Amino acid sequence: MRNPAARKTASRNWKHPFAGSAGLIAALVTVAAMAPDAGAVTPVPAAKPASRGDIVIEEFAPSVQLVAGIPVPVKKRDVPEGYVASKPELVLYSQLPAKDYFGAANGPAPLKSRSIGSYAKGCLAGGAALPKDGPTWQVMRLSRNRNWGHPELIDYLEDLAKDAPKVGWNGLLVGDLAQPRGGPMTSGHASHQIGLDADIWLTQMPGRRLSGQEREEVSAISMLIGPLDVKNADRRVDPRKWTDTHARLIRRAASDKRVARIFVNPTIKKALCDFEKSRDRAWLAKIRPWWGHHYHFHVRLSCPAGSVGCKNQNPPPPGDGCGANLTYWLSDEPWVPKNPPKPGEKPKVVKKRPMALAALPRDCRSVLTAN
Ligand SMILES: [Zn+2]
Repeated sequence: MRNPAARKTASRNWKHPFAGSAGLIAALVTVAAMAPDAGAVTPVPAAKPASRGDIVIEEFAPSVQLVAGIPVPVKKRDVPEGYVASKPELVLYSQLPAKDYFGAANGPAPLKSRSIGSYAKGCLAGGAALPKDGPTWQVMRLSRNRNWGHPELIDYLEDLAKDAPKVGWNGLLVGDLAQPRGGPMTSGHASHQIGLDADIWLTQMPGRRLSGQEREEVSAISMLIGPLDVKNADRRVDPRKWTDTHARLIRRAASDKRVARIFVNPTIKKALCDFEKSRDRAWLAKIRPWWGHHYHFHVRLSCPAGSVGCKNQNPPPPGDGCGANLTYWLSDEPWVPKNPPKPGEKPKVVKKRPMALAALPRDCRSVLTAN
């Protein structure tokens, strides 16, 4: 949704309304628990993190401060008085926000590739970068440095990009994957933490290379016909923007056994349900309605083999998901606030504490300190 405050309200309303239907509750709770927005590729070393003790300040974002010559991503009050590092090291404070540490690392952890933890609480060892350009893809928003993932995700994206023209899609514009070492992000998503999530724009790649500046500034296009959070809203995709080619691309994206789920706006799920005329509707089970996701779709892979400590979600419920669950998503119920703020009343803002480093799996510390 366009308005985060409205989204919060809608989200609150949305948690209860299924008193009558256990199946639907299970389906929705599964998705709710793993809110998507709650990297053959050789790992690319970004700067030159060589041996431990060779941490270079330029590798870190400006939010990191130097303490005794050591980059420490903390606020001043958190640094013990008179702290002197005996040797260069990255000091990990378990109560500090994990995003400060992971957001500051701009190269991958040179370890065996492994997705650690769960999609919204974990990190990534041995991350690989999706090159910013391929024959049929271009990475957007390069300044964010979020084109990193488990190598299996990079392979998947390259395969999808290769097949895109076969379904009539010129090529992929790729949005956020993960930070070089995964973990919570400095802004945006709650998930995308373990290198298995990727956002793909619902806009085709143009027939030319976009400049760096264009990749920062070009806007994605919403598929919605209008706002969703008003009573009796027309909750459909806009037929002037949505095409069968969009549907064919998403079908191809879902029809890959590495994919666990794809998150799309409920209006897009509906369009896909209507699009598939054949009897092979199995792929639709993976297409999950969710908030937002009308500018891009969000692919989530299952834990790759060998990722010890990687936690899959429960598989999506059986069936194509085009029935009662979707009808609910397209009704006023999840979208229209029950108690809208009265005129002059400020909407309540709920502040969430950022996730502390301590909340992440223990192995994520080694991911931060590996050099
Ligand atoms: Zn996403």
